[in-house]
Amino acid sequence: MDCLFCKIIAGDIPAQRLYEDDECVIIRDIEPQAPTHVLVLPRTHLDSLDKASASDDKLLGKLLLEAANFARREGFADAGYRVVINTNVDGGQTVFHLHVHLLAGRPFIFPPG
Ligand code: 5GP
Ligand code: ZN
Repeated sequence: MDCLFCKIIAGDIPAQRLYEDDECVIIRDIEPQAPTHVLVLPRTHLDSLDKASASDDKLLGKLLLEAANFARREGFADAGYRVVINTNVDGGQTVFHLHVHLLAGRPFIFPPG
C-alpha cells in the first residue's frame, strides 16, 4: 500500500521516533505547528477516523491514552496541550493514515481556523 505513515512505521522512510509499542508509534511532525508537535500513529492502517468502526474502539482509546502518557512524560500535561484528529478533506486531513496530533508548548485558541 502506498501510504507514507505505513512506510514510516515500517522504517522505510526515516522519522524521529519518540515512542513505540505493539500498537502505535509516536513521531515528531516534520512541519511543527507548536514547540512540541508529535503524531500518534496506529501500526494498523486505517484511512481516517471516518473509517473507524466498533472493532476499533480499543485502538482509538489507546491512541488518546498514549498522547496523554506522552504529555505527562514530557512534563507539559499540567500546562496543557491540544489533541487533534483532522478527518477527511474539510477536516484538513492530508495523510490518509489515521493519526492523532499532539501539540504543546504554547497557548491554543478555540475554535481553530
Ligand atoms: P494531517 O494534515 O493529515 O492531519 O496531518 C499530516 C501531518 O503529517 C502534517 O502535520 C505534516 O506536517 C506531517 N507530515 C507529512 N509528511 C511527513 C513526513 O514525511 N514525516 C513526518 N514526520 N511528518 C510528516
Ligand atoms: Zn498507512
